[in-house]
Amino acid sequence: MNTQRPRFPASLSSTPAKTAPAKSPARPQTAAAPAGWGLDSSAVRERMVKRLVAQGLSSKRVADALRQVERHRFVDSALVNQAYEDTSLPIGLGQTISKPNVVGRMLDLLVQARALTEAASTTGRLPGRVLEVGTGCGYQAAVLSHLFGEVYSMERLKGLHEKARDNLRAFRLANVHLLLGDGMLGFVRGAPYVGIIAAAGGDDIPLTWTDQLALGGRLVAPCTQKNGQQALVVVDKTEDGLKQTVLEAVHFVPLKSGLA
Ligand code: SAH
Repeated sequence: MNTQRPRFPASLSSTPAKTAPAKSPARPQTAAAPAGWGLDSSAVRERMVKRLVAQGLSSKRVADALRQVERHRFVDSALVNQAYEDTSLPIGLGQTISKPNVVGRMLDLLVQARALTEAASTTGRLPGRVLEVGTGCGYQAAVLSHLFGEVYSMERLKGLHEKARDNLRAFRLANVHLLLGDGMLGFVRGAPYVGIIAAAGGDDIPLTWTDQLALGGRLVAPCTQKNGQQALVVVDKTEDGLKQTVLEAVHFVPLKSGLA
């Protein structure tokens, strides 16, 4: 597997978090919680994670990553009091941030990639690169940054790409690379990926994604089935080819091509 860190294309990339001004505030300034709401307290996230574990979240790594990211920093100030409830929330431009239990479920599936379970004895972040299609507000990218070596996250809507950049700036996550681009094309310079995760669902899994998946890697994405219903799909890349598993019904925003 190619373990070299890919170079960043100027045309696609925005400023990676690591090049943010050194004097950026330690805490994000956006969507600050009104004082006294207690959202800054880790107890709020602990409660959310406990609920997710009770609902079936099995990976301790994923639970730890979810504990670390302040979800209320990614939603509009009018919605901060709902940030830790098990609900999807609007993030602008007709898009939504997924419910915490859907984020947890998908990450739980992703970290079970064979290439990763083989490396699971190591502490800290899992080795390898991951591609997220649909940055949205940047919340899941932040969670991924605590799980994986490098995170490439693509968004087709400029407004959300910029919002995610603003939301993430103060977290100073040097391993998150935000890309303005059509995620249906993947991002070949970061390939191969040990994990690919999509936050938007199409009628098929694009071949570019499976092409860009590493051997032993896993893709987790919503995909519309023959009955017209969207379901969560897992694709594993093995020596014997691609193995697809269709899981429970889900409701994600549509995967669309091109930039807007
Ligand atoms: N993970 C996000 C959820 C975003 S919702 C979060 O934590 O907030 C899904 C996102 O996928 C939307 O922002 C939508 O614009 C984006 N999207 C849809 N089709 C896309 C494509 N082809 N390439 C990149 N992003 C896409």
